[in-house]
Order: sequence, then structure tokens, then C-alpha cells
Amino acid sequence: MNLKGAISKPNNTKSLILGPCSAESQQQLETIVKQSEDLKPDYIRAGVWKPRTRPGHFQGIGEVALSWFEEIKRNHKVKFCTEVANAEHVEICLKAGIDALWIGARTTVNPFYVQEIADSLKGVNIPIMIKNPINPDLYLWLGAIERIYNSGINQIAAIHRGFSFYGNSVYRNIPRWNIPIELKRRLPQLQMIADISHISGAPEHLLEIAQIAMDLNYDGIMVETHPEPSKALSDSDQQVTIDFLKNNILSKLVQRQVQTDDQSYNLKIEKIRTEIDNIDQEIINLLGQRMLLAENIGAEKKSNNISILQPDRWNEIIQRLLKVAKENQLSEEFVFSLIEAIHIESIQHQSRKMNSEN
Ligand code: PEP
Ligand code: MN
Repeated sequence: MNLKGAISKPNNTKSLILGPCSAESQQQLETIVKQSEDLKPDYIRAGVWKPRTRPGHFQGIGEVALSWFEEIKRNHKVKFCTEVANAEHVEICLKAGIDALWIGARTTVNPFYVQEIADSLKGVNIPIMIKNPINPDLYLWLGAIERIYNSGINQIAAIHRGFSFYGNSVYRNIPRWNIPIELKRRLPQLQMIADISHISGAPEHLLEIAQIAMDLNYDGIMVETHPEPSKALSDSDQQVTIDFLKNNILSKLVQRQVQTDDQSYNLKIEKIRTEIDNIDQEIINLLGQRMLLAENIGAEKKSNNISILQPDRWNEIIQRLLKVAKENQLSEEFVFSLIEAIHIESIQHQSRKMNSEN
């Protein structure tokens, strides 16, 4: 793929997309545009058609908002983007001269919708931003990007807005940073924007999420801003004022670079990395040896007709290693999932041995 990015920025400058969750009035949009003028946002965002999880909530103001965008653009040097969920939305937006579009999380999950949108975009090279699907499926996200790209669009960015879950979490949507990291590994040219509002769900988490995004070399952030967040018709809990964005997020964000020419730093890092590589090599070699031992156990169990899973032994391993984890300042969650992964691999080795002919 030859991707160009949905936002044209000089190297090393971060992009900023801000604006309300939903367009509510021309005045609301104008206030945000005026208040954020000095921040020079790359796009003003505002939802026109809102995918609400349950009925009875504000569904978006609809088409009329697009004429507000056009009106505001007559007097201000800004670009607008909005969410589209079907071909009709695309057609209306293109007619109204929108600057960029995004595909929402509830649309990326459905290849039929994404294909419909891709088909409606044939022959129009407009910047498209694609949010991750609500479920943690890398391939749906990648597939949506491919469908849009195949329709002739190369101005593409991905928006990471976190993933749905059932139960309690500090954040509204779980970030699962490994998924955007893997997407970026597969498509290194892909612009990656963090929608810090939909991940956080509350103003107090916006800075920490934005900082992680910067530390992971994201290309920018999307933030929901509203002149009076408590009166917002949608997502009022997570929207912030432009003042809050300036004073509590942007002024506190530390920006870092991916590389440096500093020789002494580079030498130090190289030395530490060699040690790390050696340890990684040793870990894998040891795991190989461990699996051979598991196979020996498998052979013994087979000849004595003993089952693979021994609950007491498994419990004893967990308890013992969690103690060792603590002594080594490793988190319980990490060590637990590590032993679990080793145990599953070990079971597979034993099972292969026990169910083979010899
Ligand atoms: C939004 O950006 O307001 C929105 C509905 O986002 P998502 O598709 O990420 O839920
Ligand atoms: Mn929203």
C-alpha cells in the first residue's frame, strides 16, 4: 500500500483534531472554532449522524449541520470532518464540500457497510479516517483500511478509540495498545491518531492516554471539546472545554522523538540492547528445554494412563511463581499470563506425545 496520510503535516509535528461529539448549533461550532484558533487544529470534528447504542438518545442534528460547516468556512480558515455510516451520508457530505470523513467504530465492524462506503467514494480522493472496530479484531480494522484503499483513496489515517468490553474498567473503552502497534508494524506509513476522549470516557484520564499515545509515536490526537460540556447532547461526561484542553492536556504533554544522533546515548542503548537480546535468547532456549521435559512427563503419564492436567500441581506452580514474581517486582497479572501461556504450550507438547503412536 502506498499511503499518504489523511492529515498533511510537516515531519515531527503532531496533529490535532478537536470539536464536539455532535454538531448542535452553528453558534456552538463557531465558538469552538474561535476559541481554538491559536491551536490551529487540523480538523474540527463534529458528528452529524450519531450512532447511539440505545434508542431514546440524541441521534444527531442531521444534514443541516453541513450547511453550518460551509457557513463557518466562509469566515474562518478551518477544515471540518464528520462520521459517515453509509453511502447516503457520503453523498450528502461530498455535495456539501466536506474536507474529510471518518468511519465510526460501529461501522468498521461490518464489511458490508465499509464496502458500501468504499464504493460510494470511487473517484473521489478525500481524506478518510478509519476508527478501530468496537471489538478487538485487528483484521476487521486492516480490512476496512484495505477496502477504502482499494477504492482509490490513499489519504488514510487510522483512529484508535479503544475497544468495548463487559464489566468494569477505569476507561470507557479498553485501549489494548498492542492492536494499533501491530497495525502500524504491518502498515508503517499509516497515520495513527488517538481518540483520547472515547478511550478515556472522562476528562481526568485524557492526559495519561494522550501521553501514552505520544510515547508510542502516534501522529496526533482527537479530543471532544464543547463550549459547555455539561450541556452537551451526547457524551457530556467526556467532553472538555478548549481551556481545559490547553491547560490540562496540551501544555502538559511531553513530546519525544523516535531517534537521535547523540553517539553516547546510541552506544549506551546498543550495549543494553545486546544484554536484552541475550536474555531473550536464553528465555526461548530454556522454554525449549522445559517443553522437552514436559514431553518426557507425557511419555510417563501415557504408560501409566494418567491425565495431563493435574490441578493440585498446577495450583502449586502458580502460587510458587506468584511469590517469586513479587520478589522480582513483576506484576501478578503479567506473571500469571506468562505461566498460563507456558502451561498451555506444555499441555500441547504432552498431548502430542501421549496421543502419538510411539
Ligand atoms: C464519535 O466520534 O463521536 C463516535 C461516535 O465515536 P466511535 O465511533 O468511536 O464510538
Ligand atoms: Mn462522542
